[in-house]
Amino acid sequence: MPNPHPLVVFDHPLIAHKMATIRDQTTAHRPFRAVLSQIAGLMVYEVTRSFKTETIEVQTPVTKTTAHQLLGTITIVPVLRAGLGMIHGILEVMPEARVGHLGLARDEETLEPIAYLNKLPSDLHAGPVILVDPMLATGGSASAALTMLKEAGATDLRMICLVAAPEGVARLNKDHPDTTIYAATLDDHLNERGYIVPGLGDAGDRMYGTV
Ligand code: URA
Repeated sequence: MPNPHPLVVFDHPLIAHKMATIRDQTTAHRPFRAVLSQIAGLMVYEVTRSFKTETIEVQTPVTKTTAHQLLGTITIVPVLRAGLGMIHGILEVMPEARVGHLGLARDEETLEPIAYLNKLPSDLHAGPVILVDPMLATGGSASAALTMLKEAGATDLRMICLVAAPEGVARLNKDHPDTTIYAATLDDHLNERGYIVPGLGDAGDRMYGTV
C-alpha cells in the first residue's frame, strides 16, 4: 500500500516563530543551537503520533487502571555533523531513546555519499528509527543514510528535518517511498551551490560557530 503521508510539513505558530529566529542571519551560534534543538523537541510530538503502544495495568494512589506505554525500542540516528544539533531537544522529551550515529562525506570521484562513521545498535528492527538531519537539500545523503539503516535491519523508519527542499523530498519519495518525512518548513528550491532557498545557510556552521 502506498505511504499515505510521504511528507508532513508543520503548520504551527510556535514552530514558525522559532524558524524565524534561526533563519535570521544575525542569530549567533549559541541561540541558533538552542532554538534549533527546541524545534526538534516540539516536532517529536507529531513524529511519534503513529508509534505503537501496549496496554499495561498501573496502580494509581486511588485505584487500579489501564495505561499505555510505547512499544519497542526507539532509536534516533543523527547524520553528522548538523544532525547532532537536534538530538538534545529530542532526548529531552524521549530520554529513553537510543542514539546511533552516521557520518557521511562525499566521495570526490564518484560524488556519492560514503560513510566514515557507522555506529548503530545491532537490533535496529527492535522499534521505530528516526533519521535526523536539519537540512534536506538534494536528498543524496538522506537517501544513502536510509539505505544504510534498512541494510542494518531498520523496518520502521521516519525522517525529521527542519528545512526541506522540494528536490530532496522528490528524491526521498522516489528512493524510499515507505518513509515519511517530517519537515518544519518546505522551502522554495536549491540554488546553484546546493543551498536551500530561502533556507538558513549552512546549518552545521551556524550551530557550531564555524561560519
Ligand atoms: N546543508 C545546509 O546546511 N544548508 C543548506 O542550505 C543545504 C545543505
